[in-house]
Amino acid sequence: MTRVLFLGTAGALPTEERANTCLAVLGETPGSNLLIDCGGGVYRSLLRAGIGPDSLDDLFITHAHIDHIGSLPSLIESFRLSGRKRPLRIYAIPEVLTVAESILQVFNYELTLDNWTYEVTLHATEPGQPLTLAGVDAHVYRMDHTMPSAGLRLDFPTGALAYTCDTQPNPSIAELGKDARLFIAECTFLNKDEAQARRSRHMTALEAGQQAAQCGVDTLALVHLGVAEGWTPADARNEAAQAFSGAIVVPQDGDALEM
Ligand SMILES: [Zn+2]
Ligand SMILES: [Zn+2]
Repeated sequence: MTRVLFLGTAGALPTEERANTCLAVLGETPGSNLLIDCGGGVYRSLLRAGIGPDSLDDLFITHAHIDHIGSLPSLIESFRLSGRKRPLRIYAIPEVLTVAESILQVFNYELTLDNWTYEVTLHATEPGQPLTLAGVDAHVYRMDHTMPSAGLRLDFPTGALAYTCDTQPNPSIAELGKDARLFIAECTFLNKDEAQARRSRHMTALEAGQQAAQCGVDTLALVHLGVAEGWTPADARNEAAQAFSGAIVVPQDGDALEM
């Protein structure tokens, strides 16, 4: 059984309870552990969840906003200091990978086996390219955010997991989330702040519900909560339920769902 672990669930501004949105997809077979994004404090979140330095195989970075990529150098350094041995593969669309490479260069990382306890490799991926992540077929979709961003679909035998990452509603979500068992959608605003959502190319809770309904998914999980704006997870759930009649969860940090 694969577990989807919500290491962080906040939007760009973390709160006392919620770290930046970050997901771990944990399989039962070797080579099937995936981290999606690495915002603030992700190494500590991994430790608290019992995920040791050698546990992760792949890292997929959805886009280059700080709340999704900001911990990359400290994560890699923490892995090294804790004696990681297994190779780490980092995947992203080319524009995001370029930023990841620049960040690593700033900190003078030398990505060679000679200087590191483990190998770090960078892999550019584009929509339509064959890709395996978390041990299953993965599909990347370009989303519509203020910078290039990519949603991710993982096709497990038990059903698909689809994650929108940061985006406003866009036509590619229909394919990304089609009939997904678990549809993880960003939810930075409520509908009352729709104008702000459009300016920053994010989704409202109502729009997340609409996208889930259009895709015909089983369960909608709301993440990237802009709760620092002064609203509650219950507000988001109620608003999404106006458009989507399936199961809706608003995970807290540390919660997990099974696929
Ligand atoms: Zn974000
Ligand atoms: Zn963003």
